[in-house]
Amino acid sequence: MTRPLIVGNWKMNTLRHTAMALAQDIGSRYADTSADERGFDLMVCPPFPYLPTVGEAIAGSGVALGAQDCHAAGGGAHTGDVAAEMLADIGCTAVILGHSERRTDHGEIDLAVSEKARAAHRAGLIAIICIGETEAERDAGQAADICARQIAGSVPKGAVAEDTVIAYEPVWAIGTGRTPTAADVADMHGHIRGELSRFLDDADRVRLLYGGSVKPGNAIQLLSVPNVDGALVGGASLSAEDFWAIAQSS
Ligand code: PEP
Repeated sequence: MTRPLIVGNWKMNTLRHTAMALAQDIGSRYADTSADERGFDLMVCPPFPYLPTVGEAIAGSGVALGAQDCHAAGGGAHTGDVAAEMLADIGCTAVILGHSERRTDHGEIDLAVSEKARAAHRAGLIAIICIGETEAERDAGQAADICARQIAGSVPKGAVAEDTVIAYEPVWAIGTGRTPTAADVADMHGHIRGELSRFLDDADRVRLLYGGSVKPGNAIQLLSVPNVDGALVGGASLSAEDFWAIAQSS
């Protein structure tokens, strides 16, 4: 069975002291839980400036550190950007790529996401590649096609289960308190698994996360859906108590 992965995407939230307190709280909960009981992997993805602070706060706890974006190049004249190699250098093991907020706010297209994922792999990072349809696309019956197209365009050639995670995040469910039904999530995750198998030999082992308004109250239901191997959590990951309750639901 695939070990579930619960990822906290802190987005552009926290300041240094709140980031440190949140990370310490999550780190000590994970470290204080016996290996038998913590049958899930846990990761936090703070804003860039707090990666070192959070890295120190979770050191030795078993909680992994991830970033929220990277540049495709290994270095050079790219003002304001951060290379995957830099993230690996400061202790990150993963990076979220192609989040819908980046696709919307920064015009990121599938090709850019694929190039960033290639950079993540080059640096030894796990690429957590986000896909998902808008509400208009869902209403038009295009959700499955949109996700298939995003997979084909965003997952680089040569990706394997060890270095790639897919997060299905319907755009209309992010930060809205709305979620698809369990049946809809099951359909989509089955579809995503099938699409991945067209490109990857080990598609059955790739972890597929669900993201979009995951809360303690709906986590058990969402995380028990077939082909859901964990969650990408936004708002609820800013509360150690809620994030922990979600993780324990996996
Ligand atoms: C996200 O932004 O990745 C996310 C899933 O947000 P939320 O949990 O707040 O919907």
